[in-house]
Amino acid sequence: MNVEQALQILKEEGYKYTGKREEIIRIFAVEKRYLSAREILQKMQKEYPALSFDTIYRNLTLFADLKILETTELGGERKYRFQCSKHGHHHHHLICLSCGKTRKVPTCPFEEVFNELPDFTITGHKFEIYGYCKECNQETHS
Ligand SMILES: [Zn+2]
Ligand SMILES: [Zn+2]
Ligand SMILES: [Zn+2]
Repeated sequence: MNVEQALQILKEEGYKYTGKREEIIRIFAVEKRYLSAREILQKMQKEYPALSFDTIYRNLTLFADLKILETTELGGERKYRFQCSKHGHHHHHLICLSCGKTRKVPTCPFEEVFNELPDFTITGHKFEIYGYCKECNQETHS
């Protein structure tokens, strides 16, 4: 996902273009990591002082519904990041609990399990590994 693709999806689905929406999308493009609604609000408050948490939250929910963003829950808080390419190979993520950055787990650990479940139509699954990335680990130990 990139800014142009995200704006294109909004347009195709009939949602109005607003500067705020583009700004939210741009933040995700720059940060490339999981962010909470609160973090987005903090980053936008300078430019949009009247912006409410509610507006941010509603837009993030919309973007997630449109598959522009993917979401997960970290430390009891909903977090969002740009959706990985739909055309890419199926994979999972390592997620840093400190900075929200992710890394690909290139193989799916469930492929073999699925082959042994013939009486169930599987439509999706989730698998995430949590921990601390190299940068965040070094910070806590230095
Ligand atoms: Zn990915
Ligand atoms: Zn980290
Ligand atoms: Zn998988």
